[in-house]
Amino acid sequence: MILEQEHILKTYFGYESFRPGQQEVIERVTDTINTLAVMPTGGGKSICYQVPGLILDGTAIIISPLISLMKDQVDSLLALGIPATFINSSLSTEEQENRMTDISRGRYKFVYVAPERFESYGFIQVMRRLRISLVAFDEAHCISQWGHDFRPSYRSIVPNLKQIGSIPVVMALTATATEEVISDIQELLHIENENVINTGFARDNLSFHIVKGRDRSSYIRAFLEEHPNESGIIYTATRKQADALYDQLNNRGINVAKYHAGMSEQARKESQAAFIHDTVSVMIATNAFGMGIDKSNVRYVIHYAMPMNIESYYQEAGRAGRDGEMSDCILLFSPQDIQLQKFLIERSLMDEQAKQNEYRKLQAMVNYCHTQGCLSHYILDYFKDNLPTQPCGRCSNCVEKGEKTDITEEAQMILSCVKRMGERFGVSMTAKVLKGSKDKKLMEFRLQSLSTYGLLSAYTEKEITEKIHFLVAEQLLATEEGQFPTLKLNQNSVDVLKGKRTVTMYTTSIPTSDEEDYHKDLFETLRALRKEMADELKLPPYVLFTDATLKELSRYFPV
Ligand code: ADP
Ligand code: MG
Ligand code: ZN
Repeated sequence: MILEQEHILKTYFGYESFRPGQQEVIERVTDTINTLAVMPTGGGKSICYQVPGLILDGTAIIISPLISLMKDQVDSLLALGIPATFINSSLSTEEQENRMTDISRGRYKFVYVAPERFESYGFIQVMRRLRISLVAFDEAHCISQWGHDFRPSYRSIVPNLKQIGSIPVVMALTATATEEVISDIQELLHIENENVINTGFARDNLSFHIVKGRDRSSYIRAFLEEHPNESGIIYTATRKQADALYDQLNNRGINVAKYHAGMSEQARKESQAAFIHDTVSVMIATNAFGMGIDKSNVRYVIHYAMPMNIESYYQEAGRAGRDGEMSDCILLFSPQDIQLQKFLIERSLMDEQAKQNEYRKLQAMVNYCHTQGCLSHYILDYFKDNLPTQPCGRCSNCVEKGEKTDITEEAQMILSCVKRMGERFGVSMTAKVLKGSKDKKLMEFRLQSLSTYGLLSAYTEKEITEKIHFLVAEQLLATEEGQFPTLKLNQNSVDVLKGKRTVTMYTTSIPTSDEEDYHKDLFETLRALRKEMADELKLPPYVLFTDATLKELSRYFPV
């Protein structure tokens, strides 16, 4: 049996050996044991159903939410001489019918379908008569409401499968390894613990970098100059940012493509094709770009602004280096990114509990930007993956170590200030008190009379803020979830206060922009966002928020 698998891997696919986890999955599936494969993006999940599909008799049904990817997958199977097809809404009704006829005759080894297919009576009837080898749920996290792209149509397949009758084996494949998603998939598809093959999240060929306090567009121009002809994606937070950056680079004669939901379908298609076929090497896009993009030689992914959570970040950044070559994932961070994401969460239609959950996830993303530990470790730890014993040695925190300073005393001052303030305030107010600021808001809450007022006046408010963020990132100080998270002490804080624990921080000299610029920038960003929201709802922007409200918001949000 093993021989047969390897033989197929070599003769059909031309690969020398299996990647981690592939063989374990393939063995189980060919033994008709329901299996869940959790492998990072680019880990080689397709092979996990393609090899058993070739070994087992009958037609393999692959359920995929990614219409754009189906055609690519089918084309590459056809190129290998393997009969395959796909059925989805991109085909004319006539073409769908023709294909269904061929499918019902058992002409194909692989049929890719969109989840919605299972809502069609005709399709179910054909499936009932067909000899099926296996059913595979690709991108299986879409089945779970805990997954980041939950699709109800995906979940409702499960009861419909019962009508089909004899399905020898069901498998699920995903790159999302959170416990909730995994156990949800297991329960729905009846997969035993020992048949969950989780290769872990680590992507040893990715180097993570955080860049703070730099002018974003000049950073990008310099980066592109240093990496000419390398394929890369630059993710922006808004369409306006994408348009602006595109124009800017284009005007300088740099050949770039762009992609966002505000463009026509035709324009998006062309842009995507130019990038995939390497006619253009740089893609500037919002998060609308990428689901279903299978481009292996992406050498870098730059985030122009911080995304909403680690899940999205890792997924987007993970589009780099699918070919296994060393690649860079760079996040350009500015504190205003936090406000932007809070704004997005706040205006979303989620219920209160879901919002709190998003704020919690956002905080973890913010902590990623402030931690001084290994960035790869941080991500793996977030996904509760097993930590390698050694830091990666490649990320910006591993590489660019500055001078290490003992800040235990400053930390103690910050912590006692939080305590004195009754654990009711956020980072910004705490920093103002420690700085000894004359801000009116302090007066309002009678904070000038605190004994910690002005204790850190030797530092700038920015420096104090940095230190507080650092304490939060290192879990020496806790935050209460919410739109305006309040600082709370935890057990670690108590240890620091009691002198049982010292605190060291790498001091970097981060140039930060002017306070005034910061608010102006944020105001402009919120305005752009309002325009996008309004365009989507086909309303004039001022109906959503007046300029005055936005100005207020950009001032009110604590940094
Ligand atoms: P995933 O679906 O897990 O993101 P894919 O199945 O698209 O990943 O595979 C990613 C890349 O890895 C593809 O280019 C694929 O051809 C390649 N690949 C898969 N398995 C192997 C293997 N055993 N040896 C070499 N390359 C492989
Ligand atoms: Mg895949
Ligand atoms: Zn590292």
